[in-house]
Amino acid sequence: MARKKSKKITALFDRVAFIGIGLIGSSMALAMRRSGLVGSSIACARRAKTRKAALSLDIVDEVTSDCSKAVFGADLVVIATPMGAYEAIAAKIGPSLKPGTILTDVGSVKREAVAAIAPHIPKGVHFVPGHPVAGTEHSGPEAGFADLFEGRWCILTPSSEVSNKAVRKLSTLWRKMGAKVDLMEPDHHDAVLAITSHLPHLIAYTIVGTAADLSDDLKREVIKYSASGFRDFTRIAASDPVMWRDIFLSNRDSILETLQRFTEDLTGLQRAIRRSDGKALEDLFIRTRKIRRGIIGAKQA
Ligand code: NAP
Repeated sequence: MARKKSKKITALFDRVAFIGIGLIGSSMALAMRRSGLVGSSIACARRAKTRKAALSLDIVDEVTSDCSKAVFGADLVVIATPMGAYEAIAAKIGPSLKPGTILTDVGSVKREAVAAIAPHIPKGVHFVPGHPVAGTEHSGPEAGFADLFEGRWCILTPSSEVSNKAVRKLSTLWRKMGAKVDLMEPDHHDAVLAITSHLPHLIAYTIVGTAADLSDDLKREVIKYSASGFRDFTRIAASDPVMWRDIFLSNRDSILETLQRFTEDLTGLQRAIRRSDGKALEDLFIRTRKIRRGIIGAKQA
């Protein structure tokens, strides 16, 4: 009987360098490793604790604290740090990037990511900014898992000058990590994410902040009865403080614009309650329920 031939997996990239190996970087590294998508991998992080975890959890092959050393010889470089560090990192790694390398990032705001990174990229390096719309409230390499991107969107925002081949290759990588890929202009991405992600975080931070300022007696009751809605807000409001500080500062214009609309709608709701306008309330709640059903239908629940 003929032996069944095992399917040979060909790596898409020879060597990947992760600058930052927290939740997103480590999840990508694990997803790539699981499917044999890269030959070898290295991660750069500032703290010895992070580097040790990345090695002991078998997330990458090598670690370093020097970003420019990390990118040496890499044909794929992924910047996966909080966005506040982008500019300094790009300035440091720029001169060490080899021609033909694909450089990407995973930052949650795209216009600022491009502004911080693009000026430092040498000719011949393909910069394809990205944002996987997937995550949890946990941080660090210990939080990563290979399935994080399964069925989730990854939005790429390349400029029109970037080689189509590079965009296609990075899209293939994301698809092989389980994601669905879409292309967008950076400004459009930031406007969409302001409403779908940044505003909900802002609301959660506000509600949980209001609760944190209550008297001790009341606070105890809030924690005890948190199952009735508050708990979901606390999960979102437990997201990484540094990352979210950077997101609100980087996407200021789109967030302020969205917040203005939200404030107007909130005033409308306030008026409906004051006037006992049950119809206005019910009409709104019927519309919002439809949105939820649409999300479930799109398998994004
Ligand atoms: P994280 O878990 O906090 O990890 C950040 C990583 O960056 C750590 O390994 C950290 O290690 C390293 N780092 C920080 N500053 C650095 C620097 N100056 N040089 C080198 N390494 C540095 O963060 P994350 O959740 O993965 O988020 C990373 C990026 O992904 C952010 O830009 C965020 O906008 C984006 N994103 C996050 C989510 C989410 O839900 N979390 C979703 C989509 C996109 P050391 O502290 O040891 O240096």
